[in-house]
Amino acid sequence: MCSGESRIKVKTDMKNLRMKCPYCGYWNRFPVDKIFIEQPSQETKVKVLIPVYKPLETSKCKKCGKIIAEPKELIRITKSCIRDHNMDRRK
Ligand SMILES: [Zn+2]
Repeated sequence: MCSGESRIKVKTDMKNLRMKCPYCGYWNRFPVDKIFIEQPSQETKVKVLIPVYKPLETSKCKKCGKIIAEPKELIRITKSCIRDHNMDRRK
């Protein structure tokens, strides 16, 4: 058993993320990797995948120059949790 660890990189896909600068409100666009992190759940039938975005490079706001995204900091969009019911699949 290897419980307690979340498996990273279930699915990745390159795209540009649009993010509003928290300092000045300017909309910036930068390249990210979309990653789904699988979270361990008590119920084995329910898989919880959390989509996060990994910035490919350090991005600064084009307007105020502050750093709004860094590769070491994953951007998590909290409200959208995907619940997948894989009742039929067995490992
Ligand atoms: Zn800004």
